[in-house]
Amino acid sequence: MNRRITLAARPVGFPQESDFALVESELPQPGPGEVLVRARWLSLDPYMRGRMSEARSYARATQLGEVMTGQVVGEVAESQDGRFAPGDHVVGQLGWQEHAVARGGALRKLDVDLAPPQAYLHALGTTGLTAYFGLVDVSRPKPGDTVVVSGAAGAVGQIVGQLARIAGCRTVGIAGGPEKVADLTRVYGYDVGIDYKADDVNAALKEACPRGVDVYFDNVGGALSETVFRRLAVGARVAICGQISQYNLTEPELAPRNLGFLIVFRATLQGFLVSDYVHRFDEALTRLGGLLADGRLVTTEDVTEGLEHAPRAFIGMLRGENRGKTLVKL
Ligand code: NAP
Repeated sequence: MNRRITLAARPVGFPQESDFALVESELPQPGPGEVLVRARWLSLDPYMRGRMSEARSYARATQLGEVMTGQVVGEVAESQDGRFAPGDHVVGQLGWQEHAVARGGALRKLDVDLAPPQAYLHALGTTGLTAYFGLVDVSRPKPGDTVVVSGAAGAVGQIVGQLARIAGCRTVGIAGGPEKVADLTRVYGYDVGIDYKADDVNAALKEACPRGVDVYFDNVGGALSETVFRRLAVGARVAICGQISQYNLTEPELAPRNLGFLIVFRATLQGFLVSDYVHRFDEALTRLGGLLADGRLVTTEDVTEGLEHAPRAFIGMLRGENRGKTLVKL
């Protein structure tokens, strides 16, 4: 039998465990050109909250009763595609389930001698690619720039901070709670960590960024961004990666209200999607793989065991309970 997590109800506000259903179905059988994959690792990501909703977005909503969307690393169990053999490690958009059948073309074979399988969901997966292109392409940091990252201890944020530091920038991370803020400087090499839940963020930024903020890599949005906009430097670049503070609101927050600062500081604000960079993934993976291999890039994983606990881990991540990349081990 196959176990899968499907969307049982569309959440209002924060998702609840009752919005998900654990269902059993027959083990799927691969047809010609298809591969049966036994899932080993499931990535849990904030974008999944968007898929649970019918609000307009860049991707189709998950339908009620449909398996939750998600990226998976697994092992080939059976193959009817000559490019894959049983035991191969692969990554693909296979959903929250223990087994999945996919077209061979929808899977990418992994080199697990290079990095552990789950790294292909973090530094060597969509998360690392998001950090790389959001920083290198959208933020365009120069040595000596001050780079501020919100959601700085999270999966994307921890990599952005390290890449910015390697690029010769001064790095300031913003995260919630004393443990995460301690991780910012101790584990991820940020020059300064700010606790948005306890500190006066404006005063802390003023002190940490005396010449202003050249790059703001925003994972959070809302009132926090409003505060950062006050401290931008002339010519600042603002990369809008995510707006997680807004994903579970039933009424949109009326912030940031101070876009006038973009005029004052002649700043550029740009949203981006990692999927726009597919044609350059190899470039990023070579760079990220090199940094990971020589120990210049460190990552933290927050691992939950068992598919049945995925909904709880997902909700916890949206609430900030994760300490690093949220993964489910299957
Ligand atoms: P993550 O940062 O590992 O986990 C989510 C974190 O968001 C939580 O741990 C929490 O950290 C923070 N958070 C939640 N609610 C918040 C609030 N109201 N105010 C401030 N912080 C809040 O997740 P991730 O996978 O790295 O994703 C980070 C962001 O990148 C998300 O916004 C996501 O949508 C975006 N993203 C964008 C793309 C793209 O292509 N544009 C691709 C991937 C991800 P604290 O404990 O510090 O509050």
